[in-house]
Amino acid sequence: MMADSFLPPPEGAVTLFDGTNLDHWVQRRGGGAAAWPIEGGAMTTRGGDILSRDKFENFHLHIEFYCPDSPPEVKGQGRSNSGVFLQGRYEVQVLDSWGVENPGRGDCGALYNQAAPLVNACKRPDEWQSYDVIFRAPRFDAGGNKVESARATVLQNGRVVQNNQELRGQTGGAMDEDYAAPGPILLQDHGNQVRFRNVWVAPLPAAGADHY
Ligand code: MG
Repeated sequence: MMADSFLPPPEGAVTLFDGTNLDHWVQRRGGGAAAWPIEGGAMTTRGGDILSRDKFENFHLHIEFYCPDSPPEVKGQGRSNSGVFLQGRYEVQVLDSWGVENPGRGDCGALYNQAAPLVNACKRPDEWQSYDVIFRAPRFDAGGNKVESARATVLQNGRVVQNNQELRGQTGGAMDEDYAAPGPILLQDHGNQVRFRNVWVAPLPAAGADHY
């Protein structure tokens, strides 16, 4: 079943995964070619984090994810945990948080440990879901001082779960703290069998024209 909020990639988007191969991805550890298994147009987390070869500054990311159901005795952070790291530094949490009444900073749709989702937009486990993330890179002055923090707006299954949320710094497990540099999309292998498909990034300019 296709995700209901799915839009085709806009012109200029970089398709990072179309279901056929991982040519756009490398392993976090060692930098070799990514080798997550692909089946039915989806990749499954296995053997460590992977990251895109392309690096991005300001962008719109679309990604679809699937959290398999877990046995009832598996709780909280053990339920289909993964994550989508923006610039390899800021994690949008992936977790089976279906039915969680008041989701917190560790739940699905959170900017991990910084900002809980505004609403619980999760579908049941064993269903495809989507994230659309609009990321605004932090701004620096000529002297290299940060003058504006990174910001992210996140739609989960078409619902806003992060509204232009400030990111005060990197989240746990970040690749680096090189905030002024472009960074990749990083997908977390947290030891669960989470799947991803239809991954694209549309780079955005830092600003529009300054004329009227
Ligand atoms: Mg995670």
